Amino acid sequence: MEQHSLVIIGSGPAGYTAAIYAARADLKPIMYVGLQPGGQLTTTTEVDNFPGYPQGVDGNQLMEDLKNQAERFGTDVRWGMITHVEFSDTPGGFHLLTVDETTQIQAQTVVIATGATAKYLGLPSEEKFMGHGVSACAVCDGFFYKGQNVVIVGGGDTAAEEASYLAKLCPKVTMLVRKGELRASKAMQNRILSTPNIEVRWHTETVELLGEHGVEAVKVRNLQTGAEDVIEATGFFVAIGHKPNTDIFKGQLDMDEVGYLQVQAGSTKTRKPGVFAAGDVADKVYRQAISAAGTGCMAALDAERYLAEFH
Ligand code: NDP
Repeated sequence: MEQHSLVIIGSGPAGYTAAIYAARADLKPIMYVGLQPGGQLTTTTEVDNFPGYPQGVDGNQLMEDLKNQAERFGTDVRWGMITHVEFSDTPGGFHLLTVDETTQIQAQTVVIATGATAKYLGLPSEEKFMGHGVSACAVCDGFFYKGQNVVIVGGGDTAAEEASYLAKLCPKVTMLVRKGELRASKAMQNRILSTPNIEVRWHTETVELLGEHGVEAVKVRNLQTGAEDVIEATGFFVAIGHKPNTDIFKGQLDMDEVGYLQVQAGSTKTRKPGVFAAGDVADKVYRQAISAAGTGCMAALDAERYLAEFH
């Protein structure tokens, strides 16, 4: 069985930054990229708030740059998912990881950087039309709705960013917001409210999606008046937040009620010796690429110091 000093699970900004630091410290890190190589930034277009890119950078390009930087120092970037873990309680002991449900490998330290995944409303019609009008990624799927009317649910920065993206492709974008205000930043709110082809429907929830083989219309309800209405649209975009990708760690690591991993304050240490968490998987507050990169750096340094105790 392969034995490694450090295995990094996940390939977003946290994973790659951990890899850059660990590789430069000669820990010979192995990275498993997971289901969405490059993580959530690969589903966005322009990233304007990552320091060092005064003109902004395409999300895919940024992740490609981080990958190249990690590989330059010898990170072994591998396709595959970690599907099962057995973390050791023994300080300095090896943790057992299963790759793609088949191969087992051992790692003395593990950096968990598995991020978070988009949430859905949970309506039966939403599931029925998944991939046939329903999407959680406007940047991935918006193109298919070019010239058509679409609806987007949510009032956070993601919903605002995606509505703005869709408004460039679609004649009409209706944004369903369950409260009387947007949670998105002021700058994004201003952009939404000043885009003529975005209509915000406040205090509005989705009742169901209507259609035969794909979405044709969205039935909505005003939460204050109870009045129902039908909006004609062929695309239904869900942008209501994310769920941390921590199912395989249940029972082994401490989590909050939503599933975000808990780490010791001021570090990336979980309750298992040699297991560290970085990025969105352990951060429901900031959730930014740059803060994920920062904790990725911390995780690599924590792993390096931990390994030094056992050599
Ligand atoms: P958020 O959790 O910030 O917002 C989720 C939105 O969806 C809220 O408006 C919420 O409503 C609404 N919502 C949640 N559940 C439901 C439901 N069941 N039905 C209807 N509406 C629902 O998630 P985001 O993905 O928007 O953002 C996550 C984090 O990432 C934030 O910190 C954000 O600032 C950041 N971000 C930053 C970007 C940037 O800087 N460029 C871009 C994108 C995200 P309510 O307000 O009523 O709870």
